[in-house]
Amino acid sequence: MRIKLSAMDKAQQLLRQYYGYEAFREGQQTIVNSVLQGRDTLGIMPTGGGKSICYQIPALLSERVTLVISPLISLMKDQVDTLLSLGISATYINSSLSFPEVRERLQRAGQGEYKLLYVAPERLESEAFVELVRTLRPGILAVDEAHCLSQWGHDFRPSYRNIAALLPRLAERPVVTAFTATATPEVMQDIVKLLHMRDPQTVVTGFDRANLTFTVVHGEDKRDFVLRYVQDHAGQAGIIYAATRKEVDGLYEFLRKKRFSVGRYHAGLPDGERAASQEQFLYDETRLMVATNAFGMGIDKSNIRYVLHYNLPKTIEAYYQEAGRAGRDGDPGECVLLFGAQDIVLQKFLIDQSVSSPERKQGELRKLQAMADYGRTTQCLRAYILRYFGDVAPDRCENCSSCNQDYDVQDITVAAQQILSCIHRTRERYGMSLIVSVLRGSKDKRVLELGLDRQTTYGLLRGRTDKEIGGYIQTLLADGYLKMTEGQYPTLRLQARAADVLRGEEAVVHKTLQTRKAVETDDVLFEELRNLRRELARRDRVPPYVVFADSTLREMAGVCPVTRAAMLRIKGVGEVKFGRYGEDFLRICQEYAASDVPLDEE
Ligand code: ADP
Repeated sequence: MRIKLSAMDKAQQLLRQYYGYEAFREGQQTIVNSVLQGRDTLGIMPTGGGKSICYQIPALLSERVTLVISPLISLMKDQVDTLLSLGISATYINSSLSFPEVRERLQRAGQGEYKLLYVAPERLESEAFVELVRTLRPGILAVDEAHCLSQWGHDFRPSYRNIAALLPRLAERPVVTAFTATATPEVMQDIVKLLHMRDPQTVVTGFDRANLTFTVVHGEDKRDFVLRYVQDHAGQAGIIYAATRKEVDGLYEFLRKKRFSVGRYHAGLPDGERAASQEQFLYDETRLMVATNAFGMGIDKSNIRYVLHYNLPKTIEAYYQEAGRAGRDGDPGECVLLFGAQDIVLQKFLIDQSVSSPERKQGELRKLQAMADYGRTTQCLRAYILRYFGDVAPDRCENCSSCNQDYDVQDITVAAQQILSCIHRTRERYGMSLIVSVLRGSKDKRVLELGLDRQTTYGLLRGRTDKEIGGYIQTLLADGYLKMTEGQYPTLRLQARAADVLRGEEAVVHKTLQTRKAVETDDVLFEELRNLRRELARRDRVPPYVVFADSTLREMAGVCPVTRAAMLRIKGVGEVKFGRYGEDFLRICQEYAASDVPLDEE
């Protein structure tokens, strides 16, 4: 007797067959089910949560093409490369193609050759293209990065507003689906409204990314920290985000001079240079990327092991999205924020310059405040983020710098009293660098001109470095003993709490984060598999993680499968991938297993 499979059973089967995954994740199941039932669906999942599969599996089950609206050329290319490597027919149409290429793809789309067609929202402005979409009769419309619709989101794209206009033009309305990682109520409402979604099923999965470790670093010289960190994580892929182009350039030069293989990315670089540096990073040719927030939307690279924020981002949404680019493959990832009070001043300044509507300005300042509070909180960092997004969270996660207390702690009460008293005696008129100079007893021209060498606090911290004193001041700012004023020339001001320290009633501690050296996989098999992956990736002109994710290789190295069936049990090895790459990897494993190297050999 033949048993009829339900659509969900088929979906499950395809997940195994094409993607090599045993089960849908939380949320994916509900979304796929909803789409298969023909219901408009809004899926909100954190970066790395697995949004693509939510529309790709229904696309596989649909007899008609699925039209995917995607904001970035790099994102489309990446997604299509991945799909092709899985054996799923897909293509994209965007401005990177020549006219004949576009024509050819459109023609093939008309012949029903693709399961998924990715397009940029700007395409919908072309009448000819809309006409083509009419003839294609898409069964599903998937809007990726749907927060681009909303002015409240952080990547507003006016051309996303064309999408809704497409719907009434189609003879048959497709199932409208939208996906994003941004879940604030305003953004969610905007998406539903602006896409004209009908009675949508909204699925918000938990925001937690258990494999990510969150850390905030205070009071350390940022460059010293970065240097130490990237040395400890050599060989791993990481991104360092900085707030401005200038900061990116400076850091990039600094790391290059220290002989790191590093790339940079920001909107001020020529297109060619940007594309090349992105490509090198995706292909594992450079391990480290220094960038502004222009880099990353659509970077599907799954094996990024850490994301450092050299400056404070503007919002928690932006932070979580950027930081969330670490560990998409499910392996551990570290998200480190280097907190400096000046960054708040800088961001306020940028908001002031760029936002004119008072209402929006208020909103942005509120968000910045929440971000600054994250930098200062002594509570669990994960709980802070999750609660910000409206999730419930336990008070401790045991996997962030607040819970783990990975710090060297030093009592700096006496130095703190000297600093506070110096600021008090110079009438709170100066900024950080001048205060540091006075305390260090510098003969700097400005110090002498202003007669600050006659202050009683002059030279009290002689023998300490600028960086040390600067670090202490950062701690005093972070702990709320001091405040920095706004404006172009910020000065340091005492806060009420400072009095307790000056009276000797409160101790101040300065914490230095201990960075831990990354565990090195000196697994011979893992390295061999990785080399093979690099060769195959080069041959097929795709990034290595499109061949297999790091986590897949690691599991392969651990299990060392020597049969086809065992290889297919490895997470991430589906049938098509096996057909394409399986035998090569199997051969390496078989050779490894057959080599009679005693296990305990050095
Ligand atoms: P998002 O678009 O939400 O940021 P992706 O769709 O790129 O996330 O998925 C992130 C990673 O998780 C990818 O490597 C993907 O293959 C993997 N993934 C997705 N769904 C599953 C699943 N059900 N089981 C295991 N891995 C999955």
